[in-house]
This record gives sequence, structure tokens and C-alpha cells, in this order.
Amino acid sequence: MIEKKITLVPIGDIDDSLLEYISQSIKTTFNLNTHLIPCQDLIGCVPEPVFGGRYNSTTLLKQFHECLPGKIFKLVAITDLDLYSPIFSCFFGEAQLGGCCALISLHRLGQEYYGLVEDKALFLSRCEKEVIHEISHLFGLLHCSDNNCIMYPSNNIIDTDVKSSSFCPSCNSLIERALV
Ligand SMILES: [Zn+2]
Ligand SMILES: [Zn+2]
Repeated sequence: MIEKKITLVPIGDIDDSLLEYISQSIKTTFNLNTHLIPCQDLIGCVPEPVFGGRYNSTTLLKQFHECLPGKIFKLVAITDLDLYSPIFSCFFGEAQLGGCCALISLHRLGQEYYGLVEDKALFLSRCEKEVIHEISHLFGLLHCSDNNCIMYPSNNIIDTDVKSSSFCPSCNSLIERALV
């Protein structure tokens, strides 16, 4: 039986304090422990940038899935690479619905990306929302039409800022059932 914990894989130069913050958020939201593995354990080949220096998130997820080291319950890769998806219009992350692997990109989560002054607290809050959103997809949750719910899709950073980091009542009952 696979231990129910979330495996975090930093890809690139990801701050330890950010990983710690994400671990805490996962513990608080899902009551699940996390553990960290280096990306060398995962990636059999170096992802190639395509599409103007951006990386195809669907291809990356497929690569991760093929390179999983042993039995993994759920895995979230955290990268500063800039993503695009040919299927979903998402820049911030992608997850295999009801599956094992998710990916979030920090690239567009900082205010600096938008030509604004760095705001560490806002950056952390955006990271937390993206991680909770993608992990919830791994537990089978779909998008929600309530723009205050964490399962509302983020097509841009304003969507992320508007939504809260918690579930609406209906998504909350879905995630509670999924976590049993
Ligand atoms: Zn989503
Ligand atoms: Zn909802």
C-alpha cells in the first residue's frame, strides 16, 4: 500500500522557505504530509523549451509520469520555467485529473513579472492557491464557477488574486469525500 503523502519536486532554483510554506499549506488544507525529492530522481531527459522559451506543461507531466521513482501517491513539481499548454489556456499549472502528477509554475506569480514591485506575501499566497488548486485536480475535482472558490480556473493572475484559498461548500464536500 502506498503511503498517502504528497511528493514535492523542485525543478530549478526553488527557495527552501517557499517549499516549507507549500508543505505547511498542504498539511493545513489536506491534512497530508509531504516529502521532498530532488528532480534528478525524476527527469530522465531535460525538457526542451518550445513555443518562445516556454515549456509544454502536458509534455512535462507525461515525462514526470514516465520517470516516477517507485510508487508515488501524488506528486507536485514546482518550477520557475514558463509553461504553456496546448489544451488548457493555463500558465500557472496543470494536473492529471484524478491522476498522480501535477505541475505549478512560479514564473508568472511574482509582481515583478507584471512590471510591479516585488510583494513576497502576495507571491506566497498565489503559490499556495495554485498548489491547492492543482492537488485538488489530482483528487478528481473539476473547475468551479464560483470565482471565490479555489477551484475557479485562473486564466490570468487577477483570477488567482480574486479567489480565496478555500473551497466553496460544494467543492468542500467533494474534497472531503475524495480524501477519505
Ligand atoms: Zn484547474
Ligand atoms: Zn467550488
